[in-house]
Amino acid sequence: MFEKILIANRGEIALRVHRACREMGIETVAVHSTADADAMHVRLADESVCIGPPASKDSYLNTSAILSAATITGADAIHPGVGFLSENADFAAMVEEHGFVFIGPEPEHISLMGDKVAAKQAAGSLGIPLVPGSDGAVESDEEAMEVAKQIGYPLLIKASAGGGGRGMKVARNDDELLPALRMAKSEAKAAFGYDVVYMERFLGRPRHIEVQLLADGQGNVIHLGERDCSLQRRHQKLLEEAPSPALNESERAAIGERVISAMKKLGYRSAGTIEFLYENGEFFFIEMNTRLQVEHPISEAITGIDLVREQIRIAAGAPLSIRQSDIAFTGHAIECRINAENPDTFMPSPGLVSDYHAPGGLGVRVDSGLYSGYRVPSHYDSLIAKLIVHGQTRNECLMRLRRALEEFVIEGVSTTIPLHQRLIQANDFINGEYDIHWLERFVELTGGETD
Ligand code: ADP
Repeated sequence: MFEKILIANRGEIALRVHRACREMGIETVAVHSTADADAMHVRLADESVCIGPPASKDSYLNTSAILSAATITGADAIHPGVGFLSENADFAAMVEEHGFVFIGPEPEHISLMGDKVAAKQAAGSLGIPLVPGSDGAVESDEEAMEVAKQIGYPLLIKASAGGGGRGMKVARNDDELLPALRMAKSEAKAAFGYDVVYMERFLGRPRHIEVQLLADGQGNVIHLGERDCSLQRRHQKLLEEAPSPALNESERAAIGERVISAMKKLGYRSAGTIEFLYENGEFFFIEMNTRLQVEHPISEAITGIDLVREQIRIAAGAPLSIRQSDIAFTGHAIECRINAENPDTFMPSPGLVSDYHAPGGLGVRVDSGLYSGYRVPSHYDSLIAKLIVHGQTRNECLMRLRRALEEFVIEGVSTTIPLHQRLIQANDFINGEYDIHWLERFVELTGGETD
């Protein structure tokens, strides 16, 4: 097993990785920008190294500074966390070339899944159901018109290099098709420097359901059930739950088996997530994330499995210690992402946290680096805390969540707590009846209140 792990990240996810290391008896090295010198992940780590100024490109994305930090501290392995370098195949390869272990998948699997056209083709050949659409990239206007005839309207034009919903355009009829194609290409070119696009049928009211998996690269693969992440605003997830209120046990087992068989064929290693749109009982692949995800704690809550610990064990060469038959799904879990944002306008709200009190009690977990007197920097993502609540039933979970949100005190910055409080009282949410567009409609209808 490793003796020392460098955590190439910040905030709550750096703390999350630190905690798993500590429980495994592994020392930790934190890296930080000058803006994060007082951050909790720096305070709790055994050692810390400043890797640059506040801007991410000069610090948390600064590969040579991170590799130097690993060298001078004598770390054995590097955990990339979530975001930043976690899906950068070149970084993963560089880590290995410098003699460290990358805690994640093989670089070629990261790059395969990072290109959406290649990922979709690979998923199809591995037996994963796809959204009907073009066979790979759409090269010309004629081809676009041909594909539109086959899949019908409305349809979606998507960028192969896509991310965060950029380069995505809907076309509702023949007249809209070519202008939408041009716009998608120019947006993709501007955002990613790469204008390859493809086409898909536009699903009207799908849910976003994703399957968590663990694979050891030695032929063993398991799934940890699904997460329903349909509550999104501008493609950003806000609240996630597991299991999905929309799935039954046999659908869960069936999609889980498909994922397992695909990952065995691919020879995948580490934790991963396959994201689907789900509509009228059917699953359609949208992408695979070759890393840990922000919402992983709800899968941990219903399975009792520490995903970061498993990632670390796998990276150290150990076979999976759990078989599918060992996994029992227990109860229901919900995660609320608490962002330092105005809950109505979603404008970032950095600044001094003048008072902080986290909720506790049975079934309540808070992953956060906040403390009273902490200053939320303006340079990074606005996620400041994750509240994860577990109950025996969905109803118990909802009551507990309501109670925990009431207890949560974060003063000095605006947060999304009031929005969560509103949304968990909406009948559609209570009944589990929502799709990927529900939250935006809800915010429009109920917004405008001040926090
Ligand atoms: P990105 O990587 O840009 O986030 P995704 O392929 O993951 O792109 O899609 C982002 C979001 O766009 C999805 O979560 C879903 O809300 C929506 N979306 C993607 N594909 C379709 C589709 N075929 N029909 C309807 N909505 C879609």
